[in-house]
Amino acid sequence: MVKIQVDRTQCQNFGSCVIEAPNVFSLNANDEMEYTPEADDSELDNVEAAVDVCPMQAIALVLRS
Ligand code: SF4
Repeated sequence: MVKIQVDRTQCQNFGSCVIEAPNVFSLNANDEMEYTPEADDSELDNVEAAVDVCPMQAIALVLRS
């Protein structure tokens, strides 16, 4: 299980994470980023890519067994 946290005080809703991990991150009708706080291990590479591209370094990732 991959646990994801986004610092909402940092996130500027750029949506780069949505491109890298569209199963975890999305933009709603108001162009606000939404995400699922827990994702399957198969999403790990995508979430790591989202962490890397986030211009605000707002995404934190915790691995769980
Ligand atoms: S890439 Fe970062 S700043 Fe942009 S929407 Fe995702 S978490 Fe927010």
